[in-house]
Amino acid sequence: MKKPLITIIGSINMDLITNTTKFPLQGETVIGGFFKMLPGGKGANQAISASRLGGQVQFIGCVGDDQFGTELKKVLHDEGIHLRVKPVTGESSGVATIILSEGDNRIIVTPGANDCVDVNYLETLKEEILKSDLVLVQFEIPLQSIKYILELCHDNEIPLIVNPAPAKKLELEEWMRAAVITPNETEATELFGELKDFRKHPIAQKLVVTQGKEGAAYLENEMFNCIPTFSVDAIDTTGAGDTFNGALAVAMTEGQSLKEAIKFANGAAALSVQKLGAQSGMPTRKELEIFLK
Ligand code: ADP
Repeated sequence: MKKPLITIIGSINMDLITNTTKFPLQGETVIGGFFKMLPGGKGANQAISASRLGGQVQFIGCVGDDQFGTELKKVLHDEGIHLRVKPVTGESSGVATIILSEGDNRIIVTPGANDCVDVNYLETLKEEILKSDLVLVQFEIPLQSIKYILELCHDNEIPLIVNPAPAKKLELEEWMRAAVITPNETEATELFGELKDFRKHPIAQKLVVTQGKEGAAYLENEMFNCIPTFSVDAIDTTGAGDTFNGALAVAMTEGQSLKEAIKFANGAAALSVQKLGAQSGMPTRKELEIFLK
């Protein structure tokens, strides 16, 4: 039987992480500790999560015509992901410059080529998108592109998971075109207000709100119920939401109910937080099945 096709449209970044005992002040130079370079970006992270869990994944994005672009594409290719990634001439790849100091951080995100995932580019891939059994997007690409994808999927009855991270507002009729909307608690409050207040809101039935170590909540019998997750020793929760979204997409294309899909995604995310780095902790299907037994 042919595997369902999951299309993930989103960002790819290289995270440049420098550790220091002291943040430099304006005009000051300090000597750093360790330096690490880790592939990231919400789109790429979610694609890896879905692929490791057995999904057939097509990834749509853009990189710069630089060394990072080549490396970032190789990472996704090596995971068995089918790439529709354009290197953009004269543009840098997306980069997050992260300074860590004693539990605190300062971050600059440079979208670079991620801003080139625009409507014109998506139009050229329309036929490929329309082959999807499910589409998953996040908000690290231009908002106009999100609106285009919402309309395209809705008009063609392709279920769309919208992970509104970072939070940006849309009109109600635009949100209504999504099958599932997956903010974390902070994003949910910023976009839609307090959970308890909008049970009867038209989008309430589409919401899956991730709640960190508590698990994830969805509307069941007119109440927001939190499906609890597993209690684990969390080492690094970076990318927990990305693991969750990739896993949710896989479970939904396999026909699991929303409740079952949330349990599956909770399990994947609980495994991922036990290792350092967003992508390195994402489990394989086999690891997750053993964990869920
Ligand atoms: P984000 O990473 O987008 O901020 P959350 O913090 O809500 O999102 O986490 C997403 C999901 O990851 C949660 O719904 C949960 O399943 C899992 N998760 C996050 N933190 C933990 C933790 N400390 N222990 C177990 N699971 C966690």
